[in-house]
Amino acid sequence: MTNAQSMPNRSKSLFERAVQIIPGGVNSPVRAFKAVGGNPLFIDKADGSKIYDADGNEYIDYVCSWGALILGHNNAAIRDAAITAAQRGMSFGAPTEAEVKLAEKIVSFIPGLEMVRMVNSGTEAVMSALRLARARTGRRKVIKFEGCYHGHADAMLVKAGSGALTTGVPDSAGVSENIAGDTLVASYNDLAGVDELLRKRDVACVIVEPVAANMGVVLPKEGFLSGLKNLCGAYGALLVFDEVITGFRLCKGGAYEYCGVAADLVTYGKIIGGGMPVGAYGGKREIMELVAPDGPVYQAGTLSGNPVAMAAGLAALTALENQEVYDRIDRMGERLAAGLSEITRRYKVKARVNRAGSLVCLFFGIDSADDCKSVKKADTERYARYFHAMLSAGACLAPSQFEAMFVSYAHTENDIDETLDRAETAMRRVIPRAAAPL
Ligand SMILES: *Cc1c(COP(=O)(O)O)cnc(C)c1O
Repeated sequence: MTNAQSMPNRSKSLFERAVQIIPGGVNSPVRAFKAVGGNPLFIDKADGSKIYDADGNEYIDYVCSWGALILGHNNAAIRDAAITAAQRGMSFGAPTEAEVKLAEKIVSFIPGLEMVRMVNSGTEAVMSALRLARARTGRRKVIKFEGCYHGHADAMLVKAGSGALTTGVPDSAGVSENIAGDTLVASYNDLAGVDELLRKRDVACVIVEPVAANMGVVLPKEGFLSGLKNLCGAYGALLVFDEVITGFRLCKGGAYEYCGVAADLVTYGKIIGGGMPVGAYGGKREIMELVAPDGPVYQAGTLSGNPVAMAAGLAALTALENQEVYDRIDRMGERLAAGLSEITRRYKVKARVNRAGSLVCLFFGIDSADDCKSVKKADTERYARYFHAMLSAGACLAPSQFEAMFVSYAHTENDIDETLDRAETAMRRVIPRAAAPL
């Protein structure tokens, strides 16, 4: 697990060039290996479940572009759709049929969703949804949950998950106190805490990841999401589901189908771009009609609804019309989670495996993971060693304890079994010498 091992030559020299001109050598902090030590691999190409670094090493990939690639890398239908679209022009700055088709597709998938607006990232989708919620309610405050990540809009960089949790910088520098002061923070799965924050009736919306997937994977307890819906209704606040990860990941019909709760506004990203930069937000017509040019809430984007991105997204969602995709990724997720649990038991490693469909997380050192407070106790040092041992063995995980493993439709049973073999090898390397398998 020395850096030299996970730092082959081409990646190393690319990283040395990158750090000279790009902060930290990366264009998104979660890609850096700060939490696990070492330096990021530079990627040359990827196909199906496999990713190849600049030195030609092959890994079974469980990052899959942070969940965007639910069908796996280099999916032929998505790639062909993007190429065909690109041949007609990269961007027009005017409406195209592809935008209409993708919007129609999204709306057809999600019960209760009536209108959507395309943007370029999950961050933009959330930022716009919050603005809309404030306009709709005439209120200023928003409630988020500790450990949930909603992109890097100022208002959401308060007790955020993912990179912010990993680097131990829960609040970003450069966010004004006024803005941060309008963001109230509750604990995931704690309805009483939310009730208390809502009492002043100055909260525009409660935003939540229906399954939290940016502090590892934390599942909503029975009644948590419906409880939020009821509380929001009682106090006149809107409920916003941030489905940038969960949307089209857990099932075709999103959180509504997953938990039977309809939010007032929903945000999407990742999967809906098929690997291209896309986000979207949507809701009921009467709320969405407040958005410009229909209404007074301004929100715009030079490249929004980009034809190449729309074509890629449409191809992805079209593939997801096949229920067999979900049946299979769930089955693979279950196989992976069960196998990991079994290995930790056999090696007497204190751990907790959480799973929601194809989202899997192995937490070291804790036996429950229901909120940010509990996951923060995870043994990140052991994760770092495990991460590097997995990398050496040929499996690419996120370089942080607080991220999900994303299983894609390209992952075969064989990939999962191979991964479990590698995980067992890795586990042997991270446990103290004295501990022997049962
Ligand atoms: C990734 C993510 C975002 C931010 O999306 P970007 O496209 O990275 O801006 C927002 N919310 C959730 C739940 C996410 O996982």
